[in-house]
Amino acid sequence: MAEQEASGLQVLLHTLQSSSDKKSILTILKVLGDLLSVGTDRRIHYMISKGGSEALLQTLVDTARTASPDYDILLPLFRLLAKVGLRDKKIGRKALELEALDVTLILARKNLSHGQNLLHCLWALRVFASSVSMGAMLGINGAMELLFKVITPYTQKRTQTIRAATEVLAVLLKSKSNGRRAVNRGYVTSLLWLHQDWHSRDTANTYVQIRRGLLLCLKHISALRSGREAFLAAQGMEILFSTTQNCLDDKSMEPVISVVLQILRQCYPKSPLPLVTASSAYAFPVPGHIATEPPCDLPEEDFEDDGDDEVDKDSDTEDGKVEDDDLETDVNKLTSKPGLDRPEEELMQYEAMCLELSYSFEELESKPGGDLNSEKTQYANHHHILTAAFSKQHCYNKDQSSCGQEREDSVRSSLLCMVKTQRSTVHLGSKRKPGVNPYQNVQSNSLGRDSSGSEIPDIQASLKADAWDIDAIFCPRMSASFSNSTRTGEAVEVIDKLLQTHLKCVPFHDPYLYMAKARRTSSVVDFKMVAFPDVWGHCPPSTTQPMLERKCGVQRIRIFEDIRRLIQPSDVINKVVFSLDEPWPLQDNASNCLQFFSKFESGNLRKAIQVREFEYDLLVNVDVNSTQHQQWFYFKVSGMQAAVPYHFNIINCEKPNSQFNYGMQPTLYSVKEALLGRPTWIRTGYEICYYKNHYRQSTAAAGGASGKCYYTLTFAVTFPHNEDVCYLAYHYPYTYTALMTHLDILEKSVNLKEVYFRQDVLCQTLGGNPCPLVTITAMPESNSDEHLEQFRHRPYQVITARVHPGESNASWVMKGTLEFLVSSDPVARLLRENFIFKIIPMLNPDGVINGNHRCSLSGEDLNRQWLSPSAHLQPTIYHAKGLLYHLSSIGRSPVVFCDFHGHSQKKNVFLYGCSIKETLWQAACTVGTSTILEDVNYRTLPKILDKLAPAFTMSSCSFLVEKSRASTARVVVWREMGVSRSYTMESSYCGCNQGPYQGLQFGTRELEEMGAMFCLGLLILELKSASCSHQLLARAATLLSAEEEALDQHLQRFLF
Ligand SMILES: [Zn+2]
Repeated sequence: MAEQEASGLQVLLHTLQSSSDKKSILTILKVLGDLLSVGTDRRIHYMISKGGSEALLQTLVDTARTASPDYDILLPLFRLLAKVGLRDKKIGRKALELEALDVTLILARKNLSHGQNLLHCLWALRVFASSVSMGAMLGINGAMELLFKVITPYTQKRTQTIRAATEVLAVLLKSKSNGRRAVNRGYVTSLLWLHQDWHSRDTANTYVQIRRGLLLCLKHISALRSGREAFLAAQGMEILFSTTQNCLDDKSMEPVISVVLQILRQCYPKSPLPLVTASSAYAFPVPGHIATEPPCDLPEEDFEDDGDDEVDKDSDTEDGKVEDDDLETDVNKLTSKPGLDRPEEELMQYEAMCLELSYSFEELESKPGGDLNSEKTQYANHHHILTAAFSKQHCYNKDQSSCGQEREDSVRSSLLCMVKTQRSTVHLGSKRKPGVNPYQNVQSNSLGRDSSGSEIPDIQASLKADAWDIDAIFCPRMSASFSNSTRTGEAVEVIDKLLQTHLKCVPFHDPYLYMAKARRTSSVVDFKMVAFPDVWGHCPPSTTQPMLERKCGVQRIRIFEDIRRLIQPSDVINKVVFSLDEPWPLQDNASNCLQFFSKFESGNLRKAIQVREFEYDLLVNVDVNSTQHQQWFYFKVSGMQAAVPYHFNIINCEKPNSQFNYGMQPTLYSVKEALLGRPTWIRTGYEICYYKNHYRQSTAAAGGASGKCYYTLTFAVTFPHNEDVCYLAYHYPYTYTALMTHLDILEKSVNLKEVYFRQDVLCQTLGGNPCPLVTITAMPESNSDEHLEQFRHRPYQVITARVHPGESNASWVMKGTLEFLVSSDPVARLLRENFIFKIIPMLNPDGVINGNHRCSLSGEDLNRQWLSPSAHLQPTIYHAKGLLYHLSSIGRSPVVFCDFHGHSQKKNVFLYGCSIKETLWQAACTVGTSTILEDVNYRTLPKILDKLAPAFTMSSCSFLVEKSRASTARVVVWREMGVSRSYTMESSYCGCNQGPYQGLQFGTRELEEMGAMFCLGLLILELKSASCSHQLLARAATLLSAEEEALDQHLQRFLF
């Protein structure tokens, strides 16, 4: 601002205050008005800084206090004040001090019948009242009573003034004292009546803003408990609900409807969840722990007077950011290496888990070289699943010889062909309309169909016969009942036949082996049943499923449905149809409702309540020995009609937001579809949304703290068949038994001359299940000293997964990693020949088995226990850390450590790593950073994966060390074992918003592919490293040029 202009403005303001000459005052007001009507807000702020507000207010007071106030001066003055006041945060305080507050109120009162003058006063009052304490002051001085004289029932006159009055009133009601006054004077009823009147008579929606103003008044009053009570007593819910029903689709009514929804949600009476306790339905006595019963939810209302206005989540952004104050800025903590957390001699025990370092391979001949190609193994299909998936026909459709043929072509179908390229290799499914059979895009597999596509009569017959009950068949712990069951042997025969036909349907899966393994899996409540999809297996669909496009207003419709339940309860059934807490049978099969079940591995439905004929409220079980972590769900549902939309509301979700609001769908498995040859988990559901509901944890149950909120996930499902048995889950399930089955099949599938594959037991879990540790490398070429030396000196790579049981996506990624590492893919061969892989595929078996989302049986998040794990309470963490300590103590720390996770808030796949410098920079903490030496090698692997893997993106990676993550695997392995490439790999539950998979949800195939790509990334990392052997470089170069046509230039760039 020019000096001249500045002094000019000051002169003007000074003259304004001192002059009594009307003409010059008017001139100055006009100049000021012109000055502020052009240019930016900076001018207004400048004027405020030079005392502009005070000068205007003083002039106002001086003019108003004359015998007959001159409105020629007052009106332009009010206009200027309204404009300047909007930008001056202290305008209210200034008006009070200069007595302009009183003066304006008096002028308004005098001008009740003079529309223009009154309107100007109201504009000024609106800005004065913007500070809550000035609003309270105006309230004390009778401003609200005045406004109620202005706000009339429906009229077409003076509507501008009425609108301004409703807006001032709404601002005043932000003050709690005004709110209480309004309640005491019965304004809630008046406002509701006025709203109804305007609503019914303003049929052309000309005065939407007046109606919105009235509603904003109600909204602010209902922030108070007494306001909500008055609102409910005045039938506010019913009135607002009914007035809005006929205009929900009217765009011009948007400003009204959004406020109505806020009021209705705010006033909906809060209640505790319909559960007997806040703790889990399953309890596990943790050794050495005294069980403390968490307080029961109390029935009486003692909820927080929260009154937070929650905006419609439709427009919320999805990603949360790392809080900077959580960053570790203590350089000492970042750079020091803590000592052992246990006696050194304890580490000896882990030698037994590293037998590869001492084994002499006497069974091998000592001559170098070997026949690597001819071994036939029990499981013909030991191709990596991707290779099979991307070839035209699945391997299991072929006979053994053609499988062998495919193996010879393996170089051509290597993983290298699937490296991220410009063109997408994805088969995009056409977008489905809601309500259409979700399986219609799922290509038929071999089972149950002959080559012409018609169903094999056997299966059709058995489906029709319906002579058997799937529940009764798979009872792993009661295998004897197979024979002495009251069910006829005939049914067993049918099943046996089905299984025989099915046996080779799903690669790396075997139903019989699964059942055998399930008998050895121990659960807290001794599950008797096995879920059908887990036994039968899952084949990914041939097309990738796009994200669900969210229809506008879905959330609104569901919320109105919730409110309808409250105010029109006559059609609400409210019948508990399933409950883990009630031991007696709740379901009679004759009744016309769905049947639910969840007492099987990873199942966790606790209660199902039928709300209406086709709508159910569901509650999931909290983690064992915990009162929280509800997110994962997995349950069985049966007795449905086809082609009818069923609505499911999971009402006790815990996270404040979810990918269900951004295109994610739950997964469904239909038993009938499986028997027809489509054993497939598919994404399903529409009208999906996730929002805060009216359930609260009572303050008593929260130990006096403000009770937490719950969220509803709602979705509609149209089932593909009548009377089917279906399973619904948060994400593609992957049980502990599935892992144990898979590992056995993998072990049997490997070519023993080529692949060294060993399963050890890392330890027993609290629940009594063995936690497997897998070692994969290549067999030594011979037992000559030279070959044994090479074998024993291969660097280690350590990979873990599934510490969080609800993150089943991590297991699918791990499945891809394991299958790839033992496969005949030339990349896998190179990896095996150069590394020893130590893999703990499931760090939390008990959590997975018992349907937990986050914790172990001791109710603890195991990924927060790495700093000082206890051998008794967190055995898997204790021994995983012990193994890493052991490797470190013999100078064999892994090249890379990576823990696979699932991410519920973000899309894509990405890594979290650890960097001292990046953490300190991010925290803007520069102390001593120049002296810290840090190799940036931690960035190489994510950069490589960004180029290779379609699902992976560097842009979501982070290398910050947070205080709250100090006890995670990533940070502890980095700090204590000195592994600079220590990572958490996060895979979205949803899908991708970048790269070739943009707009698609993840299927298991994409997750498995990621697991394989991770391995390829490890190879490229080694090729790029300075220590890479000449021999490996040469072999890789040969391999890569053999792949030339399929190779992306990116990959070339990695190497040369
Ligand atoms: Zn996790």
